[in-house]
Amino acid sequence: MIVLNSPVKPNLKKLNKLLEQVNENSWYTNFGPLHSELTAKLEDYLGVKNLLLTNNGTSALQVAAKAIGSRNLLATPFSFVATVSAFKWQHDELGFADIDKKSLNLSPEAIRLAYLKGCKADTVVATHVYGNPCDVKSIGELSEENNFQIIYDAAHAFGIKLGEDSVLNYGDASTLSFHATKIFHTVEGGAIVFKNSDNFDRAKELINFGIRQGGRVVDVGINAKLNEYQAAVGLVNLEEIDNILNHRSELFHQYCEGLKGVVEIPQWHPQANTNGAYMPILLENGRQMKTVANSLKANNIQSRNYFEPSLDQIFVDSHNYGTKNSIAASERILCLPMHAYLTSYEVSSVIEKVKCLV
Ligand SMILES: *Cc1c(COP(=O)(O)O)cnc(C)c1O
Repeated sequence: MIVLNSPVKPNLKKLNKLLEQVNENSWYTNFGPLHSELTAKLEDYLGVKNLLLTNNGTSALQVAAKAIGSRNLLATPFSFVATVSAFKWQHDELGFADIDKKSLNLSPEAIRLAYLKGCKADTVVATHVYGNPCDVKSIGELSEENNFQIIYDAAHAFGIKLGEDSVLNYGDASTLSFHATKIFHTVEGGAIVFKNSDNFDRAKELINFGIRQGGRVVDVGINAKLNEYQAAVGLVNLEEIDNILNHRSELFHQYCEGLKGVVEIPQWHPQANTNGAYMPILLENGRQMKTVANSLKANNIQSRNYFEPSLDQIFVDSHNYGTKNSIAASERILCLPMHAYLTSYEVSSVIEKVKCLV
């Protein structure tokens, strides 16, 4: 069986050493020493400042919105459900604008049209889908013209750079997920990278019940802290991250090379590197997508029609400024196997199978 995804297994010898350290310190959560160490190492590795660890990527989105003062959001409909449900959960007002057909990321032109049509969102939420950066330049320009803030859901974009600069340095906040199924993980976990240190300070209080240093409650908070055991998993996994990113990126290029002219692959940002977070292909239509998925399954190869459905079809009571491209993409997208333990040999056999089927 060639599986779709396989979580990275932390090195237990190294992990055990760190867990013993936690026991010796008797400091299990609330911004302990491993938490500080992981924060510093991630900031250094990713090339960012103001990184706040959270207990998952969904709370990262929620806390980011609270910290920057968002109430009314315009979001991409083509993403994992949490990109939108995170905000619905806290009763934020929500609307959708369409994606770009080629990149599958939120379209700057669609954002512009939404505001022309009277959209009042104070914040735009865009996902770097499959790790492929949004058109951050155009979205940044639009944010000045239309006076909105930007949250990037960067759950897929670990290690992605635009030129020399981390993609996490764009927007007012970028969020990461460190769920076990992601490239880098802490079992459950996440992070927010803030442009502005005041927002970082506020978010650090928000994730600890709204308590300010000294003990006074200054805000309506929640508990969204990453604990020391999770930080330990992160520190162990971070030691392997260069190998993992290189391996996945190589497999991604092998797939792209092998499937060139066979199927459509989302258009990658010209200035960005790749991280091999996913291997998305676009079939001609929904029928062909299902045929390919079923035939792969019959050959013991897992695949997934992901993301589906377009999120406007779940959250039907939201504003809708048009989602035609998102609906069309959700019907014909298919993600092929991609993970740290996948071999080049296995990728070759998936490529050969797909070639036979289209
Ligand atoms: C995984 C994911 C999330 C949610 O992260 P969790 O850590 O599982 O809460 C949010 N957005 C996107 C795009 C994701 O892929």
